[in-house]
Amino acid sequence: MSRDAVYFSLGLLGYPLVGSHSPRLHTAALQAMGLPGEYRLYPIAPGGDRDLELARIFESMRSGAIHGLNVTIPHKQAVLPFMDALTSAARSIGAVNTILCHDRLLTGDNTDAPGFLSDLQRVFPETMPSMAAGESAGPQALVLGAGGAARAVVFALSRAGWSVAVAARRLDQAQALAAELKVYPGNLSIEPLLLSAAELNHRLPVVRLLVNATPAGMLPEVDANPWLSGLPLPVNAAVYDLVYKPPETAFLRQARLQGLAASNGLGMLVEQAALALERWTGLPVPRQTMWQAL
Ligand code: NAP
Repeated sequence: MSRDAVYFSLGLLGYPLVGSHSPRLHTAALQAMGLPGEYRLYPIAPGGDRDLELARIFESMRSGAIHGLNVTIPHKQAVLPFMDALTSAARSIGAVNTILCHDRLLTGDNTDAPGFLSDLQRVFPETMPSMAAGESAGPQALVLGAGGAARAVVFALSRAGWSVAVAARRLDQAQALAAELKVYPGNLSIEPLLLSAAELNHRLPVVRLLVNATPAGMLPEVDANPWLSGLPLPVNAAVYDLVYKPPETAFLRQARLQGLAASNGLGMLVEQAALALERWTGLPVPRQTMWQAL
């Protein structure tokens, strides 16, 4: 694709979008890459005319007026029926966060999963599985929450060789996640658990990675903590919190006080954005520029 021929009209679908970092990340990267373009916010409220508004935006995309879209809460699943094709990651996870258009056909992709994994490798390289031939179980990861982000995280971890336990306050949600993701080939070990001290207590010594994939602790509920009060954190685990607003959640603070290595989800945000921009432009994206823009 010639750099001169394309004006990259990009944007984000979601609601609410106030305070989104995405325009800053993408605009800075486009500039650094020498590509003309813009990144606009498309706030679409849930309910009411949502599907009509989505259909209108996707028609603009098919006509070439919009080149690429990201999708965030609460529309990552709502856009699925509008797609002509899904990548295997989007199909397995059951959610789309990046949409591409070629020849009027829309493809839904998911860069949350590779974005999470890539950042995990960056911040905790020593925790990554190095499966010896013939080994059937990888190190144990415990994921809190069973919503959309948890699906991407569990998909990424189990593909990368982790044995994953997913703990949710509604057991049926964790069971549904495990059952749906296990259908896909690739040595997936996913155990659904109730988020309770009785279920977690005896497993803690083997946990090597603990991931918060719930919104607990996110602004404005900064005192909320997904971990059960009174239960110690696993002593041998690195801790990753998908939440990045505020940069240090109550959960991360607790982990650091206990001497554990801990990271927020800012790097995942940067990586999923960079991977989306690479899909749209076909060019390598400078991560450092995105970090500086934050
Ligand atoms: P979601 O689909 O609404 O799912 C949230 C999950 O967390 C559900 O299982 C929910 O259970 C559970 N939950 C909510 N509050 C809880 C609490 N106080 N204690 C225990 N469990 C709780 O949301 P999502 O799309 O998965 O997003 C989750 C978080 O990840 C958000 O903060 C989002 O901003 C963040 N995220 C970050 C990135 C990144 O790039 N860093 C990317 C994606 C998402 P119930 O259904 O029972 O409420």
